[in-house]
Amino acid sequence: MMQIHHLVVGQFQVNCFLLVDEATHEALLIDPGDNSPAILDLIRRTGAHLRGIINTHAHLDHVMAIPEIKAATGAPFYLHKDEAPVLAAAPEMIAAWLGQQWGPPPDIDATLTPGDELHLGESVLEIRHVPGHSPGSLAFVDHQGHQVWTGDALFAGSIGRTDLPGGNTQQLLQAIRSQLLTLPDDTKVYPGHGPFTSIGRERRSNPFLIVGSP
Ligand SMILES: [Zn+2]
Ligand SMILES: [Zn+2]
Repeated sequence: MMQIHHLVVGQFQVNCFLLVDEATHEALLIDPGDNSPAILDLIRRTGAHLRGIINTHAHLDHVMAIPEIKAATGAPFYLHKDEAPVLAAAPEMIAAWLGQQWGPPPDIDATLTPGDELHLGESVLEIRHVPGHSPGSLAFVDHQGHQVWTGDALFAGSIGRTDLPGGNTQQLLQAIRSQLLTLPDDTKVYPGHGPFTSIGRERRSNPFLIVGSP
């Protein structure tokens, strides 16, 4: 079984997740956006061995704690290749948006390839590409556990903004339809910000996704 721990971190209230396999105590960390002390404390309290940091994308609000987490745990950092320029631009964005010095960005230790699977004990996460909010945006699907991490592609009642570099509204809507709405209705959705939801609820009531809506 996989335990799911959740923290809301930073000024942008990013949902950061620690997935821990109960049998092996191995863990994966999704989107450590800020507040490395709280994240490291959570990892220590669970007694987990962090095997990797896997990011849905590299916007500044999702990456700021990565250097400290890597330094403290030695865990490798994984990202889609198309997010490399987004990560490279993070120091500039952080200076402009938050007035903070940050960087250099962490090294990407390996890339995440859509269609590949990540294994955590008995659990499997399928990597899916959901571009449009950011070029290399990913979702992580746990088919067995009926749950998906969607980053900033899909939120409860909304979708990701597409006005940042590399954003594209049509691409995002198409990716949500083909990569996320094809999952069963009872799939729990863990977005990058805000409350959790389900694929069925978003299919029925998300105003951006209702076909034929005015
Ligand atoms: Zn984002
Ligand atoms: Zn975000």
